[in-house]
Amino acid sequence: MSWNQLTLDVPDDLIDTIVGELSSDGVAGIWEKALPEPGRTRLVLYFGHRSNLDKIEGEVRSIFQRVQRQGPAISRAVVEERDWTEEWKKSYTGFPIADSFFVIPSWENVICPNDRLPIRIDPGQAFGTGTHETTQLTMEALERWVEPNHSVLDVGTGSGILAIASRLLGAKQVFACDIDAVATQVARANIERNAEHEVYTFCGSLDAVTSNCIDLLLANLTADVIKDLFSEIERVLRPHALAILSGILREQDEEIREIIDRERFNVFEEITQGEWLVLIVEKHGR
Ligand code: SAH
Repeated sequence: MSWNQLTLDVPDDLIDTIVGELSSDGVAGIWEKALPEPGRTRLVLYFGHRSNLDKIEGEVRSIFQRVQRQGPAISRAVVEERDWTEEWKKSYTGFPIADSFFVIPSWENVICPNDRLPIRIDPGQAFGTGTHETTQLTMEALERWVEPNHSVLDVGTGSGILAIASRLLGAKQVFACDIDAVATQVARANIERNAEHEVYTFCGSLDAVTSNCIDLLLANLTADVIKDLFSEIERVLRPHALAILSGILREQDEEIREIIDRERFNVFEEITQGEWLVLIVEKHGR
């Protein structure tokens, strides 16, 4: 089996748009590599051997035209079938995240810097490699707001990375859940790998959590899911407890604030980076 491969160097702020638009063209694999030049990334995209590459290239060019930027050079190649997981693993090595942590892929033998705490991860099929901006921003907020007496709930734990970080930062009790059974298994394996036995995982969501028992809730989801879950977030939090809401695009600010106001939460802190917004919100007193 062979694949059509397109290689292009793009500015980081256009990656999500390009990948998003090409997803309807049946992109079968994407490989990203940061270029030495800051703010630029090499994208290697794979499509089936019958895909219409002229049309796909046209779509990429029209994205650049829309934002009035010069289009990239695009090179084509035909490559034989590869083991995608093995390919991807080559580009995932140890890296620092937030102020306190260093993520180490479980198959790598990288030494963690002295001033950081290691988190060993094999993300498998789950989201949560730690390379995504929304994970990094949530982690930074977590560092600032978690306290040792907290019961933390990580909703949509994916690889378990935020739950593990919560325990390493000293939270006395951490719960992690995901509606995806595979992610739950991946999270469990990663939690074991990091010997953080005070993290309790389950497959499911907030409806399985007792009312008024959580001091800090982590939700790196999407604005739509957060909106759907908001009344449940309100229910599980103790009065004056905090939630870190992430995975929200800046353009969704207004719609998410509408529900925050309606549920009588205060916005404690707001972090923006690139196209992303993180809100740290506090539940009302009763
Ligand atoms: N917490 C990780 C992963 C975030 S990806 C990180 O920050 O990197 C979001 C995860 O939420 C996915 O694994 C998805 O399966 C899960 N998810 C989506 N909707 C959910 C819901 N309603 N309840 C619980 N988990 C959900």
